[in-house]
Amino acid sequence: MFQIEIDHLNKHYGGFHALKDINIAIKQGAFVALVGPSGCGKSTLLRTLAGLEKTSSGDLRIAGESVVSKPPRERDVAMVFQSYALYPHMDVEHNMNYSMRLKRRPRQEIAERTRAAAETLGLGTLLDRLPKALSGGQRQRVAMGRAIVRNPKVFLFDEPLSNLDAALRVHMRSEIRKLHERLQATSVYVTHDQVEAMTMADHIVVMRAGVVEQQGSPLDLYDRPANRFVAGFIGSPAMNFIPVTVGPDGNRLMLEQDQAQSLALDRTLAPGRRLLAGLRPEHLAFTRETGDLAIKVVVDAVESTGSMTFVTASIASQPVVAAHSGRPGVSKGRKTELFIAPGNVHLFDPETELAVV
Ligand code: ATP
Repeated sequence: MFQIEIDHLNKHYGGFHALKDINIAIKQGAFVALVGPSGCGKSTLLRTLAGLEKTSSGDLRIAGESVVSKPPRERDVAMVFQSYALYPHMDVEHNMNYSMRLKRRPRQEIAERTRAAAETLGLGTLLDRLPKALSGGQRQRVAMGRAIVRNPKVFLFDEPLSNLDAALRVHMRSEIRKLHERLQATSVYVTHDQVEAMTMADHIVVMRAGVVEQQGSPLDLYDRPANRFVAGFIGSPAMNFIPVTVGPDGNRLMLEQDQAQSLALDRTLAPGRRLLAGLRPEHLAFTRETGDLAIKVVVDAVESTGSMTFVTASIASQPVVAAHSGRPGVSKGRKTELFIAPGNVHLFDPETELAVV
């Protein structure tokens, strides 16, 4: 049985259709990331799960039971917000156990659950501090502690790490993931950061303009993007898209920017068909392996982070980025070749944007 079922869900804000026929089924214990660009409806979807927004049509079930007409407190979900939403006048302990006090749970239970959550999160020595005396990371932990003490069926996270600096964000990603595994709850996590989604989630839902574009495991989405949008959104740096035309024999792709160059196809397509070839920067190498395709380029820029080198090159006037985990020994202005395995060339229809498989 699924723990969360989102079934033909729609949400309108007046005349604006914010969520369009959303269907997602989430297994008990899964960690699901909702990703997509700003305004695509991620937070709206999370808030409808929490009961903070009403649905316009469709059903939402948690543990098999429809919750669309239930108020938030009866849904057995706990939400962790980007802003942390801590009460400024309450210390850590009281922030964490506020919901239990509101429900008038027995004192001993409140004390035990608060202590257990504080221990889990390493907040034991901070229980009497006010939020203003905590670092960003500690506030974030208190916000999570407040969710944990409620022992919910489902955790909902709305960009919980976006106010933290880069190093702490990376650390907290693995903390949240570990916590999720320890608590064996079901988590739904909103982020616009695809790297965060790829590293944390078992299942990723990619949204655009209120629509689910594709969902699947992180590697499914990376290896088999269903369309150009998902291909460009998942992966960093983003995939290169190069206009090509299928050659007269149907077995080569002629580069539109440089008709003298072509790539062998591993199948036959309709001659003359125009396509977009999708090449991931990390699949473009400077050394050739047996069977690789070659593309002649001129190097425009070389940027190194120490461990990685990002080379921007051009095929005639078409820019292309290659990511190299090392130092490829190329410099600006140099003519060189980029190599790619035929199986790493993705193809998309420029009109429908769908993957050509
Ligand atoms: P972000 O990453 O910027 O937070 P998001 O994907 O979470 O974006 P939502 O906040 O879910 O996006 O918003 C989806 C769309 O619904 C946006 O176009 C937004 O302007 C609109 N929207 C959200 N809340 C309301 C509201 N209360 N009234 C009208 N429109 C709204």
